[in-house]
Amino acid sequence: MNNMIRIDDLVFEYKREDQLEPVHAVNHVSLEIERGSFTAIIGKNGSGKSTLAKNINALLLPSSGAVYVKGFNTADEDKLWDIRQTAGMVFQNPDNQLVSSIVEDDVAFGPENLGVEPEEIRKRVDDSLYSVNMYEERKKAPHLLSGGQKQRIAIAGVIAMHPECIILDEPTAMLDPHGRNEVMEIIHTLHREGITILLITHFMEEAAKADRVIIMDEGKVVLDGTPAEVFGHAEEIKALSLDVPFAVDLVYRLRKRGVKIPESIISTEEMVDYIVCKLK
Ligand code: ADP
Ligand code: MG
Repeated sequence: MNNMIRIDDLVFEYKREDQLEPVHAVNHVSLEIERGSFTAIIGKNGSGKSTLAKNINALLLPSSGAVYVKGFNTADEDKLWDIRQTAGMVFQNPDNQLVSSIVEDDVAFGPENLGVEPEEIRKRVDDSLYSVNMYEERKKAPHLLSGGQKQRIAIAGVIAMHPECIILDEPTAMLDPHGRNEVMEIIHTLHREGITILLITHFMEEAAKADRVIIMDEGKVVLDGTPAEVFGHAEEIKALSLDVPFAVDLVYRLRKRGVKIPESIISTEEMVDYIVCKLK
């Protein structure tokens, strides 16, 4: 089975007593996420990204349709822990995810809940802290750390559960540029090590570095493809009130003025390489 996640015609409605009509947060979405891939999901506020993510992690269950994680149906209560262990989740606000007063206790929390043996927990905690470059801080109190460091601890807590897939819902939104870079480096390293990554982000530069970009709008998938394919629709993306990566915007404007520059350039690095090559 090559799919880590399969979403079949998912509909999710929030029903609230104070509202007559339910909110259709996810509206007939079908997707397959390949094992080992790095997918970015973008879309403006309220487009249904977080609701989709929570349906993958079985924090929410479909109103209709179905979601499978490594073949486990999220609606199957007996498989809840298999699902949560396979697909770990990291949220936007690091302060809401850290529960202990010492870093290493926090990282141990997940594997403890899974019933992992104490000796194995010790090893997993140390390994996870090393892999997010936070081993030196293991005895510290989380509230004394920077936002980027806290987010790396939250990621360590997920890694310690040995997940095959990590879903990150705007993990860098509250971080400064330095913290954002640190977290993105860790995410890319985890991907290179074989973990399937699903990254929800509003930073287009982060999305441009994924294997695949999905754009959501009003609970639906509106664009889906490689970064070059998706960002090739610059006009459509702008019409959705979304930005495109800086290099894509530059290429778009230059081409409008008749400058011959390949549309396939999507990152600043590629733009620099192209210009340097032309100047030689
Ligand atoms: P995104 O993550 O893309 O910003 P969300 O999944 O959070 O989007 O929200 C999708 C839609 O569902 C929005 O219209 C939002 O207002 C609504 N929504 C989200 N959470 C709730 C909730 N707990 N109760 C009712 N409506 C909600
Ligand atoms: Mg959200």
